[in-house]
Amino acid sequence: MARRSSLSRLKSLWHKASSSLLGTMALWASMGLALGIGIGLGLWLGDVADPPKAPPPRAAPASPPAPAVAPRQTQPRIDIAPWVPDPRRGPAPSLNLPPEDPLRAEPPAYSPPPAAAEPTPPLAPGQEGTLPSDSPDGLPLWRRNALAAPATGGRPMVAVVIDDMGVDQRHSLEAVALPGPLTLAYLPYGRDLAQQTAAARRAGHELMVHVSMQPQSRSGVSGQAESGGDPGPNALTVGLPPEEIRRRLDWALGQFGGYVGINNHMGSGFTTSRPGMGVVIGELKRRGLLFLDSRTTPSSVGEAVAAEAGLPHATRNVFLDNVQTPAEVRARLAELERIAKARGSAIAIGHPHEATLMVLRDWLPGVTGRGLALVPLSTIVAHGIVAQGEAPASAQAHGASGAVTR
Ligand SMILES: [Zn+2]
Repeated sequence: MARRSSLSRLKSLWHKASSSLLGTMALWASMGLALGIGIGLGLWLGDVADPPKAPPPRAAPASPPAPAVAPRQTQPRIDIAPWVPDPRRGPAPSLNLPPEDPLRAEPPAYSPPPAAAEPTPPLAPGQEGTLPSDSPDGLPLWRRNALAAPATGGRPMVAVVIDDMGVDQRHSLEAVALPGPLTLAYLPYGRDLAQQTAAARRAGHELMVHVSMQPQSRSGVSGQAESGGDPGPNALTVGLPPEEIRRRLDWALGQFGGYVGINNHMGSGFTTSRPGMGVVIGELKRRGLLFLDSRTTPSSVGEAVAAEAGLPHATRNVFLDNVQTPAEVRARLAELERIAKARGSAIAIGHPHEATLMVLRDWLPGVTGRGLALVPLSTIVAHGIVAQGEAPASAQAHGASGAVTR
């Protein structure tokens, strides 16, 4: 009995001991688990609370040189950004630049236009030939920027337009130095246009913007006037949506101020597009500008669309220098005289080429002596409007001149 009782006591003791041991083990295990979780959680929370370390600086050849100032210690982790291109910004804005024309002797240093267009450079008050342009006088812009009409004494009028101005600066300056009043049309991608055009205006010439338009083909249909086939940056091309035509025109018209209107650079393709020319003429009308059709193709609808819209306009009669020899330029000027005497006015377009400049230097001072009046383009356009008012039945559109005489 005693043995049995000691045995049972022994069993009882074992049970207590084992349960106690199990309990202790369970306790330790649970504590360990809790500790493990706690540490893990702590580490995890620590990771979250602790901002990620900046990536080690890589060799970044494209990054700008480090500034001389000491790095700011208060925001040590901002320096992640410089190496990470922002995908939301997308690629650099496309300017729709055509490929460089290797034939161009002096490629224009085109730079994107400023976000806000430069304000029109003010013309000197009292400057000869200008009307006050600051007051809201109700005149359309072309009239405000027009030179005062010279006294013609009833003689036939000739206007000499020199376009492609502003890119070849040496020859452009030579054109500005010619006796005026000439009408000088500057390409909107020329350099220092504000200064160049202000100097031209001070020299007594009228200003126009020479807007690039798509030629028909690389060979073109009017010889030198279309040679190369590259109309330049932001040219107006057939099939562009109206808003893009307006955007490109707005860019061209934003490069300088003081102009009376535009004429087309190249454009034997674009000027045959009635929808495209409709947008251009509509925008010129809205801005109060005139249009001179360079007439680089007999199929141009420029004159017809301008006439339908009631836009002041004119059309070139003679290209002076499709053949760049003094003899040819002289022959074209003789043709200009004949047309002016037959019709009352005529418009020539030339370019700042050596032969043209040389011949004009001789020819311009003798214009009056030959019974002609040299006038800015705006004078011929204004006469055309007056003539149409006096003789509305006239077949002549209320622009000036018209025929292709080449
Ligand atoms: Zn041109």
